[in-house]
Amino acid sequence: MIPLQQFYEEIKDCRKCRLCESRTHVVFGEGNPNAEIMFIGEAPGENEDLQNRPFVGAAGKLLTDLLGSIGLKREDVYIANVIKCRPPENRNPQTDEIDACLPYLWKQIEMIKPRVVCTLGNFAAQALLDKKVSITKVRGQHFQVRNFLVFPILHPAAVLHQGNLRPALSEDFQNLKKFLAKGIQPASQPEQMGFF
Ligand code: SF4
Repeated sequence: MIPLQQFYEEIKDCRKCRLCESRTHVVFGEGNPNAEIMFIGEAPGENEDLQNRPFVGAAGKLLTDLLGSIGLKREDVYIANVIKCRPPENRNPQTDEIDACLPYLWKQIEMIKPRVVCTLGNFAAQALLDKKVSITKVRGQHFQVRNFLVFPILHPAAVLHQGNLRPALSEDFQNLKKFLAKGIQPASQPEQMGFF
């Protein structure tokens, strides 16, 4: 069994926080176990919880299309969430739930060893940068965290609720494409970022 599968087996019945009461599955993540790029969202929604796969609803289709727009397939990258169980009614994750679940994501990152972690939306950017940042201020920048770079972009689900954000999300992916093509550049440290 490969290490990521083994890790999934270890946590698939996790009961470390209250979200275990209402979930169907611990949605671990999927993709290339040696991916250079990871995409991290907030938490599973209804479709993800039922199918035990990340980003399979309308936001997932949009993410797949946007990956295609920059020449990437889902199988090229690794996709996961900060929180692995669906919050009831898709409410925002609570601080103690993030604290309970985030070590699992850090362990996945350690195992996959990506060059770039692309965070989708506010929650994932704040979790990975460990700062109360606003996605509208940090999107399109990149930050050194441990031994990888964090590249925050908008969450595809935001576009489903606010169609006027679609050009900005497409722009984020085009900026990501340019960033990846340039290779690794010196990065800002999280403490140098602009906050609220
Ligand atoms: S959200 Fe994370 S910590 Fe909470 S029960 Fe699910 S896997 Fe465990």
